[in-house]
Amino acid sequence: MAEYRCLNCGKIIPASELNLKAKCPYCSHKILVKVRPKVVKKVIAR
Ligand SMILES: [Zn+2]
Repeated sequence: MAEYRCLNCGKIIPASELNLKAKCPYCSHKILVKVRPKVVKKVIAR
């Protein structure tokens, strides 16, 4: 599932919680960026 991060308050909002409104439920900011937490790769340094 896609998640979005509010550029104003920095909170992570799941797409299901957005309910098709491109608006932050916490601060009503309208600019959200998509985040993909499962794409993050861990690199173990030796
Ligand atoms: Zn916000």
